[in-house]
Amino acid sequence: MGQCVFCNQPAGFLRKQHSACRDRHESGKREIVALVSEIGTPERDLARLETQVGEIAAGCFVDNFMLRDLVVRGWESAVDVAFEDHVISEEEERLLAELKRHFGLSDEVVDRNGALSRMRKGKVIRELLEGNFPDQFATSGPLPFNLQKTEQLAWVFEGVKYHEHKKRTEYVGGSSGVSFRVAKGVYYRTGAFKGRRVETMEQVHVDSGLLGMTSKHLYFVGEHKRFRIRFDKIISFEPLEDGISVQRDAMTATPQTFITGDGWFTYNLVANLAQM
Ligand SMILES: [Zn+2]
Repeated sequence: MGQCVFCNQPAGFLRKQHSACRDRHESGKREIVALVSEIGTPERDLARLETQVGEIAAGCFVDNFMLRDLVVRGWESAVDVAFEDHVISEEEERLLAELKRHFGLSDEVVDRNGALSRMRKGKVIRELLEGNFPDQFATSGPLPFNLQKTEQLAWVFEGVKYHEHKKRTEYVGGSSGVSFRVAKGVYYRTGAFKGRRVETMEQVHVDSGLLGMTSKHLYFVGEHKRFRIRFDKIISFEPLEDGISVQRDAMTATPQTFITGDGWFTYNLVANLAQM
């Protein structure tokens, strides 16, 4: 006779759980996540929330370790909820911070899937949309950007892949070695057989490094390449799923691509900084 992993009562021959216990456990887990993620309530009683989720946990075979994980999941889901309407509002940000503090969740744990970073990014975009320069970007050490006197730093992306688009000229449709019938009265110019010259763009990974966004420039510092581009020298920004492509205002310029891993944020950040 096997024992139910949830209630520890006999579960029947070769069985490890009662389906009713399993269902209760799963629905309890969902309920805890849903309750924690409800940040729509303005005057939220967090002590009451804590008691509530504790009771559900006790009644649904959820141990403390799992409860903590579910609270973190609830917090992560609350960030998604906050993003649903628009960029995170100041109120939503305050509620998220209170929730985090009340349950004693560390920065590290709430950022395990990037939720805390998303919240911070949302804040930066909100400030820009409101016409304010984002709060000073927190850095752990000195940065390799040589900022100008009045220049402010908005964000630094790490581990950014920098790609350049190189033009490559090739000839297609060349006919060397191919025989063709010469019909009377039709003149084939020799040039017609040399193939058509086409220019193709080839994307080349040039370097990886830091990408800094300031009030005036985009800075890139890699192992081999270091440069900055003034926003007013950029004629177009192209959003990519995982980064951004910029086109400088010069006859010879080809697109430059920065892969940051977050196209939504990179594009909104640079497009708004360039407008300031
Ligand atoms: Zn059971």
